[in-house]
Amino acid sequence: RVEARKFFVGGNWKCNGTVGQSKDLVSMLNQSTLSTDTEVVVCPSQIHAQSVHENLRGDISVGAQDVWTQGNGAFTGETSAEMLTDMGIKWTLVGHSERRGKGEQNPEVAAKAKYALDKGLSVIACCGEPLENREAGTTNDYVFPQIAAYAEQFDKADWAKVVIAYEPIWAIGTGLTATPEQAQETHAAIRQYIAETVGADVAADVRILYGGSANAKTAPGLSAKEDIDGFLVGGASLKPEFADIVNCQG
Ligand code: PGA
Repeated sequence: RVEARKFFVGGNWKCNGTVGQSKDLVSMLNQSTLSTDTEVVVCPSQIHAQSVHENLRGDISVGAQDVWTQGNGAFTGETSAEMLTDMGIKWTLVGHSERRGKGEQNPEVAAKAKYALDKGLSVIACCGEPLENREAGTTNDYVFPQIAAYAEQFDKADWAKVVIAYEPIWAIGTGLTATPEQAQETHAAIRQYIAETVGADVAADVRILYGGSANAKTAPGLSAKEDIDGFLVGGASLKPEFADIVNCQG
């Protein structure tokens, strides 16, 4: 790994938990020993975000799991970037495959990211291919347009507040983690694509996380790879093992 890119671990709690369980997760995190060499962000459900944000230790940031493309208004069910920043929330995910699966396309995802950046949020911008592309050898053909959509919207300076999460859809929630070699190959390709389309300086600095059944067992091997700068963790972020992933670099 390149030391200049601070290791980053995000926890995506998805649509899980009661008020009590999210309090328990906060206490677990508050009591755990976490490497100061890792930047940690947890993304509870939108409805639990405020209580998590108020009760969580200061060295862990809170993120939303999604954000609306515009500001406040007649948009039933949405959460605006303005609401998040007002609450003191610093991060949001955009373009998770579970949102894309509900019909979000690249331009909408990128518009969400850009609106959030303009309002002062940092963004974990997700991408990743379905199994048929992985099997057909067309992973890059699927992932590069996702990155291109972000790049079209972002100003160069925006990239300082962006982290990419590469999450092959076939690995999410399946227990089927990409091998370190598979992940490294795609991470390197994404970085190269950003170098060519945005700039070598941005490509060298941007952190690219791996997501998809990452756990305490697979994290050390993956994180040893040059272009893997951390993880976006789903299932394992609800367990004590999350701390081991944060600390996986020894
Ligand atoms: P998983 O989810 O770790 O449960 O596979 C990762 C994600 O969807 O962000």
